Amino acid sequence: MCKKVYIFLHMPLHKRQTLRKKSGRREERGSGALCRSFFIMKILLHMCCGPCAVMPLLRLLEEGHMVSGYFYNPNIHPLAEYLRRREGAAEVAARCGIKMIWALAPEDYSPPEWISLAAGLKGRTGKERCAWCLELRLRRTRALARSEGFDAFSSSLLYSRYQPHELIAAKGEEAARASGEETEPLSGGDPFFYYRDFRADWRKGVNMSKAWGIYRQQYCGCIFSEYERYAAELRESNARLTSSFFP
Ligand code: SF4
Repeated sequence: MCKKVYIFLHMPLHKRQTLRKKSGRREERGSGALCRSFFIMKILLHMCCGPCAVMPLLRLLEEGHMVSGYFYNPNIHPLAEYLRRREGAAEVAARCGIKMIWALAPEDYSPPEWISLAAGLKGRTGKERCAWCLELRLRRTRALARSEGFDAFSSSLLYSRYQPHELIAAKGEEAARASGEETEPLSGGDPFFYYRDFRADWRKGVNMSKAWGIYRQQYCGCIFSEYERYAAELRESNARLTSSFFP
């Protein structure tokens, strides 16, 4: 890793953001190559699905970063939905020409395990369950980024308007600070969480994923979110059946 990148990677987040803004201004004035070389990184992008990954991938690639995708989402329920989202992620990765890392061990997708862990949070709020679910996925991404020598890790979850954006950012930063817990060998420096607000590209991402024919999901992922998504339909159906039974 060159010295400039090393210094950049070890700066606090607010300094990195200031520097990036300044470099953007300098790039406009024509010294782009120098600035870009300062920021080129090897990034592991956690991909929650295909549609959410389109714009984060395109943005990171156009900035010259070396990006690999990682699909680890044990929260997605049921299996048929999981497979459709994974196929969508594969399609987007192929179109963007990036390498994917798949979590293929049996324990990497085990609904009984995930549900029993989530059930252990009974009595907590939905927000707390989401915090746990995000932490699980981001910590795993960070561990892989660390063992595979990535400079940074990030997540396509930062693109979604429907996800708790601030919570994802906080969990990413927390995961990056989780040094000392890992068992994997370190093959680079400790990767940092590369926070970006990809939501500005929301409309573009929707259009691109539709144009590419990528499967677009209707709910966040877990059985709880699926229930919330269709609860109104259940209520309407209940009302219909009740009125047909008691005309
Ligand atoms: S709603 Fe989404 S983020 Fe929250 S627990 Fe379910 S899958 Fe995870």
